[in-house]
This record gives sequence, structure tokens and C-alpha cells, in this order.
Amino acid sequence: MELSEKVRKAIRNVPNFPKEGIQFKDITPILSEPKLVSEILDYWENVYRSEPIDAIIGIESRGFMLGAALAERLQKPFIPIRKVGKLPYETVTFIYDLEYGSSEVEMHKDALKPNWNVLVHDDLLATGGTAMAAAELTKKMNAQVYGYCFLVELAFLEGRERIESYSKNVDSLAI
Ligand code: IMP
Repeated sequence: MELSEKVRKAIRNVPNFPKEGIQFKDITPILSEPKLVSEILDYWENVYRSEPIDAIIGIESRGFMLGAALAERLQKPFIPIRKVGKLPYETVTFIYDLEYGSSEVEMHKDALKPNWNVLVHDDLLATGGTAMAAAELTKKMNAQVYGYCFLVELAFLEGRERIESYSKNVDSLAI
């Protein structure tokens, strides 16, 4: 079976979470399968090993697990992006619009060096707003997005179109 199919099969669809009418893609069953996790990391390691990537950014919170594991595989720094107020040291923040209201994300101000190429990782790409906020934070630090990698992409929401202006290098395992 192809890796993308294994990933698709392992994801659990949870209806009406976090609210009525939304079908949530739960990736935690993937984390319960260490062999599948190894295969995913093998695949990404192979894709990115020879690329000029200086750091991996993981987006809170489901981007932390595999993002940190991939950073270790590639022997590159792992940088967390978190919702505002969670990081202990001085931060750079970015506010972005949601369907209803807005959200604010931040990273430590010394996490990224100028001109670094970063790989942004999250579990899922939906509208692209979150990944775009990560890209904007990266820009604020005078660094650039080299690419994105996601476990899942909800293609019908066309998030890819929103984030491709930062980098066209978008890899999703299951679409
Ligand atoms: P976006 O900003 O609309 O692209 O939403 C992506 C963000 O929301 C990511 O950080 C995801 O972790 C989270 N997210 C949205 N929908 C789901 C889902 O169905 N399963 C898991 N995470 C989701």
C-alpha cells in the first residue's frame, strides 16, 4: 500500500467536532503506529535531506510532534510557533483574520536567523490562514519559507493557493 493511502486510512474522521457540521480529521491514530511514523519520517527525510533548509517550524500543537521528529532526522533546529501568551521569552507576533474574529501567533524573537530557509510543518492544511501566519512571522524575522509539509490537505478549501505566494514547494501526504 502506498504511504499516502496508509496515512489516509489511519486518520479518523470525527463528525461535529469542535462544533456542529465540522468533520474533524484526527491524526492521533497515526501517532499510535510507530512503524507508520517511521515511514512518514523516512519519506520526508528523503525529500528534504539534500535541500537547503536551515530550520523546521512546527505550528501549535499538532505540528510539534512530527515537526520536532523531522528536525531531529534532518539535524536542524526545531522552532515552535504558538498561540499568543504561551512562549516564555520575548516574541515576535502576527495577528491574522479567522472566519469569525482573529488569532495571534508568535515565535521567540531569537529563534530564526536572517536569511534562513525554513520548512513549515503542520498536521493539516485547511484554508491556509495558519500556514500563512507562519510564513508572515518568518518574513518578519527576515527569513523565508523554503517549503511546507503537511500530513493532510483539505484541497477543496484551496489553502494551497493562499500559501503558494510564499513558496510553491508544498508537500501533503494525503489530499
Ligand atoms: P487553516 O488555518 O484553515 O489552514 O487551518 C489549519 C489549522 O487548523 C491547523 O493548525 C490544523 O491543525 C487545524 N485544523 C483545522 N481543521 C482540522 C482538522 O480537521 N483536523 C486537525 N486539525 C485541523
